[in-house]
Amino acid sequence: MNWLEVTLTVSGELSEPVADLLARHAPGGVVLESEADEAGQATSTRPFVVRAYLPADDRLEARRRAVEEGLWHLGQIIALPPATFRPVVDEDWSETRKARYRPIPIGRRLLIMPAWLAVPGGDRLPILLDPGMAFGTGTHPTTQLCLAALEDCLHPGDTVVDLGAGSGILSIAAARLGASRVLAIDIDADAVQAAADNIRRNEVQSAVEVHQGSLPTVRAACPGGADLLLANILANTLQEMAADGLALAVRDGGIAILSGILADQAQAVVDACEAHGLRWRRSLAQEDWRALVLERTTPPG
Ligand code: SAH
Repeated sequence: MNWLEVTLTVSGELSEPVADLLARHAPGGVVLESEADEAGQATSTRPFVVRAYLPADDRLEARRRAVEEGLWHLGQIIALPPATFRPVVDEDWSETRKARYRPIPIGRRLLIMPAWLAVPGGDRLPILLDPGMAFGTGTHPTTQLCLAALEDCLHPGDTVVDLGAGSGILSIAAARLGASRVLAIDIDADAVQAAADNIRRNEVQSAVEVHQGSLPTVRAACPGGADLLLANILANTLQEMAADGLALAVRDGGIAILSGILADQAQAVVDACEAHGLRWRRSLAQEDWRALVLERTTPPG
């Protein structure tokens, strides 16, 4: 089989929307590659190379046009570098691409790994994900902020809620860091399936349950509130959730880590939380993104 390979080099923040867009037109699949440093490991702040493979058949021109149009539209919202197109003749790219991946170290203790690599020695705790999937691969700054805050806040034995679990990356990290019970909740059926697959891949099923739903599902499954709640969603969703009793999903004195928040949205989310039983403790920053660490107060208000 011959292919047309489409390549763009973008920041971690942009890699997921670009990969999502390409995935819609690339039956050959989309891969995210991170560039390795001298030690042979990728770092989360380096650029990501997104590659997509279009089969060289009678639909190639239509697909290429659709990709170019999609990139043009995305480029109206946020500046994108030009895509390059390269014919790949009869190559088993699925094998060559695998050779290019490197583990991505996050925070002090975690390592995001393509599922097929042998787990390297060393102290870092591996999170195995399939980078062929277009979302939830750990490249977004908000995911990295949540992982860093989780490392600081989680105590072994904690009960954790991961609201908006996506690929399940934060739930898997919580289980690796010693949580005794993790509830991974997402409103989207595809995300629930992806999370379930990744949880199995990481063999953490005994600690992590996956449910489709949202805040009411959390309140039903964990009535006393979790020791630690993670929600990496969007600022306005978080504000609405704060008013709808997000604090009650956290036990007295427990911690909420909220992200998906841009710098200029952070104060509004803090205000909504403080009006409803969560007290701001600190913020973490990466690029324009923020994560908030808050503590449940009594009474929740
Ligand atoms: N936790 C992952 C994924 C974040 S993407 C990470 O940190 O990388 C945000 C996820 O929130 C998406 O999977 C989306 O389906 C989910 N989501 C959006 N609104 C939601 C809501 N109201 N309730 C539950 N999940 C929601």
